[in-house]
Amino acid sequence: MSSYDVVVIGSGPGGYVGAIRCAQLGFKTALIEKYSTLGGTCLNVGCIPSKALLDSSERYFNTVHTHADHGINVKDVKLDFSTMIKRVQEKVVKPTTDGVNFLMKKNKIDVLHGHGSFGDANTVEVDDGKKKTQVTAKNIIIATGSKPNSLPGVEIDKKRVISSTEALVLKEVPKHLVVIGGGVIGLELGSVYCRLGSKVTVVEYMDRLVPTMDKDAIKELQKALKKEGMNFHFQSAVQSVETLGKDVIVKAKDLKKDEEFILKGDYCLVSVGRKPYTDKLGLDKAGVKVDERGRIETNDHLQTSQSHIYAIGDVVKGAMLAHKAEEEGVYVAELLAGQKPHIDYNLIPGVVYTHPEVAAVGKTEDELKESGVSYKKGVFSYKASGRARASAEVFGMIKVLADEKTDEILGVHMCGARTADMIAEAVLAMEYRASAEDVARTCHAHPTYTEIFKEACLAATDNRALHS
Ligand code: FAD
Ligand code: NAD
Repeated sequence: MSSYDVVVIGSGPGGYVGAIRCAQLGFKTALIEKYSTLGGTCLNVGCIPSKALLDSSERYFNTVHTHADHGINVKDVKLDFSTMIKRVQEKVVKPTTDGVNFLMKKNKIDVLHGHGSFGDANTVEVDDGKKKTQVTAKNIIIATGSKPNSLPGVEIDKKRVISSTEALVLKEVPKHLVVIGGGVIGLELGSVYCRLGSKVTVVEYMDRLVPTMDKDAIKELQKALKKEGMNFHFQSAVQSVETLGKDVIVKAKDLKKDEEFILKGDYCLVSVGRKPYTDKLGLDKAGVKVDERGRIETNDHLQTSQSHIYAIGDVVKGAMLAHKAEEEGVYVAELLAGQKPHIDYNLIPGVVYTHPEVAAVGKTEDELKESGVSYKKGVFSYKASGRARASAEVFGMIKVLADEKTDEILGVHMCGARTADMIAEAVLAMEYRASAEDVARTCHAHPTYTEIFKEACLAATDNRALHS
């Protein structure tokens, strides 16, 4: 039986990054993954393939719809959907997951393929279907991630009623894609198919899209997606989903009007959140507890009810984001090495990779109001940016929320082109507790979208934006 300093279960961004940091710090480390490829949800069926399809579909959409405005006339544009999907799998996902294998070898991490489950609090059994291997460890990190959730009575048959996993490898472009849930997955994958020519109808329980994000930024996004052709039913609850041959019948109720309505599509994407994945992990044998939502319970140091067993990423509380999982992987490794790591969960940015992109960090206005913090705000529109006009990207705005008295930036909410990349400047500013004026006095290259952030900071600092 092999023994390790650290055994990590699950090779997603939490697990594999945590394993690398453990190895860097001198721990003898093993990584257990049930699938044949490493990288977890993020690299195989999440962040990476979805962004690849978003990129391809945006190219197609622009070629068909917007290039003519720039004087580029392209005739007879044909969509080769199978090549689009093939590119994602063969030229994006495969090299990316292979890259993780390389990193494991480079860092001398033992990779064990098979389903991992606890034998006891220090032993993990790895079952690859043919043989069972046992490993022991001083410390164990559970990084088993999450799986798609569904609604009571709605069965994801993976053919016509699909989750994000199947939506990334469809064989045809749906004629009418009904999306249940107007959250991040629904909007990103809904955008992909809307751009490729599907009719897309989103049914959302709340009164707006991505209800956790800033209302004004989301209003902008909603306008843009409507213009792109997406249809929305808000405050509507799905009651049942049935398949009849190639048709999917979605019955829902408009809660405001108290009226039922029926949508007929050829595919239905269920994107109502994800649930922590702890199936057959044998947590009871190790004495590890889960909470009422099935998440592994952890304290502020990501320790489970067994102090040498840690849990990170989607399987614990907090945002289900790859970069949050990575931060936690590094945190646990450094904690084990006796360092004093720290994660500021308020500074984990969130991004929706639609067009325009929505990106945010820190508090929303609603959160500041709720906690009674006095704040001021500066808003600057993409319309007033020379760079945005040059690139025909005039949709969107950036909002900066700063403390009324100290001017410290408390929240930044962006909707517009390239905000996914630009939010990093806001995160850095907030990490160093910058004031809105600190950013406003920093020289930003012209012409760039980053000037919009600077102008929003100027607007928050005594309302002195220069170009509005
Ligand atoms: P996971 O990535 O889920 O990895 C867990 C791994 O553990 C899996 O490989 C699983 O097979 C393995 N495993 C589970 N149980 C066992 C076991 N018993 N034995 C062995 N192995 C096991 N986040 C972002 O930040 N940005 C994005 O753009 C983004 N886009 C997304 C798009 C989609 C379509 C989806 C579905 C998700 C997206 N996410 C995105 C979320 C992101 O993928 C997750 O937050 C992230 O992957 C969580 O990482 P993790 O390491 O906790 O778990
Ligand atoms: P989500 O939580 O983002 O959105 C789910 C949506 O479904 C919500 O708007 C919710 O109000 C709605 N909903 C719930 N029940 C409903 C019902 N009965 N009828 C209609 N609507 C209903 O979940 P998701 O989009 O499935 O994504 C899952 C996770 O994956 C998220 O936590 C997200 O963090 C992560 N993810 C992140 C990214 C990114 O960072 N860009 C991309 C994709 C996924």
